[in-house]
Amino acid sequence: MPSIFTKIIAREIPADILHEDDLCLAFRDISPKAPTHFLVIPKKEIVSLADLNDEDQAIIGRCVVVASQVAAAEGLTGGYRLVCNCGDDGGQEVPHLHFHVMGGRKLTWPPG
Ligand code: C5P
Repeated sequence: MPSIFTKIIAREIPADILHEDDLCLAFRDISPKAPTHFLVIPKKEIVSLADLNDEDQAIIGRCVVVASQVAAAEGLTGGYRLVCNCGDDGGQEVPHLHFHVMGGRKLTWPPG
């Protein structure tokens, strides 16, 4: 079922887009939890990590490479965190798989 991220992909709602290619999109999180906080999403409608199939390997690999490249372009030389919340217990709110990239400050561990 289409989520709000499908509407961002289709440019039906605005987002500050940092990268787009055939497989994925990266855009700034609307409610940043760190000085730099962006999301990388597959264009394919995959609900969560729990829904991945073998055929999705290239898509997910591309998302992680894009996360790294955009993090570098954003100047996150001191490091950053890549997070993928999965399902209710994982704190996932938007039912379209997405990777958070957060950096620009010292992050604590473990997350809540
Ligand atoms: O992992 P989770 O599903 O909780 O994260 C969803 C993220 O999507 C939130 O950080 C929220 O701020 C972001 N979001 C966004 N643009 C929207 C709707 C949600 O960046 N239009």
